[in-house]
Amino acid sequence: MSERDQIIIGYDLWYLSLPVVSARDHGIGRVSGTCEVIVLRLRTEGGVEGFGEASPWSVFTGSPEASYAALDRYIRPFVLNRRVSEREAIMADAQRTVAHCTEAKAALETALLDLEGQLAGQPVHALLGGKHCDTIPLSVSLANPDWAADRALLARLREDGVRIVKLKTGFAGQAFDLMRLEELSRDFPEFAVRVDYNQGLAAETALAQVREVAAFKPDFIEQPVPAPFFDVMAEIRAEIDVPLLADESVFGPEDMARAIREGICDGVSIKIMKSGGLTRAQETTRLAAAHGLTAYGGDMFEAGLAHLAGTHMVAATPEITLGCEFYQARYYLREDILEEPFPCDGGVVTVPDALGLGIRPDVAKLNQYSQNGARAA
Ligand SMILES: [Mg+2]
Repeated sequence: MSERDQIIIGYDLWYLSLPVVSARDHGIGRVSGTCEVIVLRLRTEGGVEGFGEASPWSVFTGSPEASYAALDRYIRPFVLNRRVSEREAIMADAQRTVAHCTEAKAALETALLDLEGQLAGQPVHALLGGKHCDTIPLSVSLANPDWAADRALLARLREDGVRIVKLKTGFAGQAFDLMRLEELSRDFPEFAVRVDYNQGLAAETALAQVREVAAFKPDFIEQPVPAPFFDVMAEIRAEIDVPLLADESVFGPEDMARAIREGICDGVSIKIMKSGGLTRAQETTRLAAAHGLTAYGGDMFEAGLAHLAGTHMVAATPEITLGCEFYQARYYLREDILEEPFPCDGGVVTVPDALGLGIRPDVAKLNQYSQNGARAA
């Protein structure tokens, strides 16, 4: 793309507070009212714009304030006046200049890839090794403390053609979890069911509870205990005959290598917000797959822009075989930020083939939901 390479001269940030439709409970915490994400826009000398989203969750990856500060104060100087073709060097500088803040780095790489794709005349998935699928199966999570509301959501999902759900467990007691699993198998048998504790169980007592849940034969059980308890994860894995997946225990390739060494999981949740970018997410996945582990494309509390980045990454990573969870834009936000609806219908996400990410955010919506006073044309 050398003749189409351009210098980055514009760098804008929006700190967004996006209203959500209901409370959601997880083992490590509740989300209600709004979710907060940061949107980055890069602009080249030729007027091409690339967008990226940082979607943190304070109890999991970090705070939105930290993401904003990382992008605004620490990363900005390493981006302005650089060439789009310097993506790898820019990402290395971002990695060096601020520890953690993986969501900010994911936003940066997304925006750089969006620019590069538009300049090179290619979709982002082509820059990541090429598309291996046109659609990705969609899993929607059930986490409403009001089970009747989740039953209504299940009826809607059935109508929409969704056939995978993930039950969030470990936040309101074992009886509530077992009741919901029973009703799922009795009243919604067409759904494949996954279970995710989000670290919700105490390490000392987790095994007995996980055993009872494993008796329902979900597709997998995810992260029953807090992230640092690799030893307990390994013990539970050895004691149940349902695949055990790691999420909070594995952020990037470094954690993945340790997880493999210590035998803590049969598979892993891959998220660009944990790994610190799309290429590191691919690296994490390949390491897992090389050791026989499965993977799915997970997400945080994201808007459609981050979903798009995840979709391109998953589409270009054939080792991710368990679908994706890019459902918030459609099923959780009151209003998404993209110019067109995020493409998920009939139980699948359709991989965009237009240049760059394929769909742009609606700048009027960014301005509408902005909390930092950003008002840009
Ligand atoms: Mg999870």
